[in-house]
Amino acid sequence: MLDVIAFDADDTLWHNEPLYIDIQSRFKKLLSSYHSSDWVDRKLFDTEMRNLKHFGYGIKGFTLSMIETAIELTEGRISGGEIQKIIDYAREMLETRLEPIEGAEETLAELSQSYPLMIVTKGDLLDQEAKIANSGLAQYINNIEVVSHKTRESYAAILSKHKIEPHRFLMVGNSLKSDIQPVLELGARAVYIPYHLTWVHENNIEQELPQDGYYQIENIASLPELVRKISPNLNALS
Ligand SMILES: [Mg+2]
Repeated sequence: MLDVIAFDADDTLWHNEPLYIDIQSRFKKLLSSYHSSDWVDRKLFDTEMRNLKHFGYGIKGFTLSMIETAIELTEGRISGGEIQKIIDYAREMLETRLEPIEGAEETLAELSQSYPLMIVTKGDLLDQEAKIANSGLAQYINNIEVVSHKTRESYAAILSKHKIEPHRFLMVGNSLKSDIQPVLELGARAVYIPYHLTWVHENNIEQELPQDGYYQIENIASLPELVRKISPNLNALS
């Protein structure tokens, strides 16, 4: 019943958002002599939303948004040294080794015995490729797709490239907006695994979620059990 199981990467296979939250709190400290922390948060979020269509997701876009916010909020008084600090944050983010989500490796190891597995992730190509390579999980993955945006169109293109019928495709992720909604709209199936720190933008969906093919679990470790219910292929391993 399923041909491919696809996984989101950030905050589905490894912890990613905590790194952004940590850097953002240092950014707020950097601007603390100019503005309150709440106001910096709000302005940074607005700048990120405005810039997504130009710079896309990922560390580089986030860094440009921090620099732009800093210039705006200090009315141009931010110093070269302070901008250098923001660029250093980006370098530090790129070099940080991300912690795997508990149970992710075991789940991929088990499912990979019965299904081809795919990663569908968005962000900076170089950064996403490095994270996958450093994760130790690439050995379980047959295909990696790094896209700029996760939309209905981008999933349709992936399915058609790999000749997968929508109802035989299962996507697993922590973002209603990127991993669940567009996939369900295509007639494919999606498993939502909430992450405690999901960026607010990622769960900000305007339309109601289609219920057909929608599943929710609390932990990636329960995925093999759910897959056994959805698709009998895995019965042999139970
Ligand atoms: Mg994610």
